[in-house]
Amino acid sequence: MNNPVYINGEFMEYEAARIDLEDRGYQFADGVYEVINSYNGKPFRMIEHFERLKKSAAALEIKVSDYGQLQADAEELIRRSGFTDASLYLQITRGTEPRSHAYSDDLTPNIVMTVKELKNHPDEYYQKGVKAITLPDERWSRCYIKTIALLPNVLAKKKAKRAGAFEAIMVRDGFITEGTSSNLFIVRDERIITPPATNYILNGITRRVILEEAAKLGFTVLEESISLGELFEADEVFLTGTTTEVMPVVEIDGGVIKDGKPGKITGKLFDHYRGLLG
Ligand code: PMP
Repeated sequence: MNNPVYINGEFMEYEAARIDLEDRGYQFADGVYEVINSYNGKPFRMIEHFERLKKSAAALEIKVSDYGQLQADAEELIRRSGFTDASLYLQITRGTEPRSHAYSDDLTPNIVMTVKELKNHPDEYYQKGVKAITLPDERWSRCYIKTIALLPNVLAKKKAKRAGAFEAIMVRDGFITEGTSSNLFIVRDERIITPPATNYILNGITRRVILEEAAKLGFTVLEESISLGELFEADEVFLTGTTTEVMPVVEIDGGVIKDGKPGKITGKLFDHYRGLLG
């Protein structure tokens, strides 16, 4: 197949794929998702992504009958794509029914998976670092659910792009939460700090890998609130995410972080992270 996709248990060509106009994902953003990268044919941290997917779906009362089969199908779709390095998008919506806010209890979810060839960000971003802006976090208070309702993230990311920045760092009550599609870390006095995994952030798989691996490398790692002031005073700032990997941030709202160059610890973590991928 040239561009295989998966819908509700079946593999087919992209062109043949159909979803009902009354899918609740389409009308209400009533669904959850995951993005899983596969390197050299091996999905990275698939189990953790599926654990988070289950939690997200359960939080919204979306019931999937067989996650084991779904995981096998995800692996099969990656295999069918033929890509050595692939990025899988998996979306589960509550299902299809005539539009009405209150949902029926017995809906069958619509499960869709697509796969693309994995394209890394340009090397230059990692070598020179990227810019970011800060914006108020305008999302709801259940950000730990990886829902497809991403409008605040979408609008904030667009503002960042318009400002010539890579990412918008969101701020709630004077404290950093995360990026629009990434988690945030700072380094201060050689200690690696990231905001705690409360309901106000998505607990990224990459975030968890970095916390674990940095500790293994002997660094002090802390999950602590980071004020806006602490962000600007940091020795190093970096973002993490499945697509973002470990991305140095060297300028925020026009002010440089330290000497305006990617930090040494960030570089070390980036190299280490790359080494873990297939
Ligand atoms: N926070 C948000 C809001 C995100 O959308 C993402 C990426 N989906 C992340 C953090 C990073 O998560 P992960 O490391 O699991 O890709």
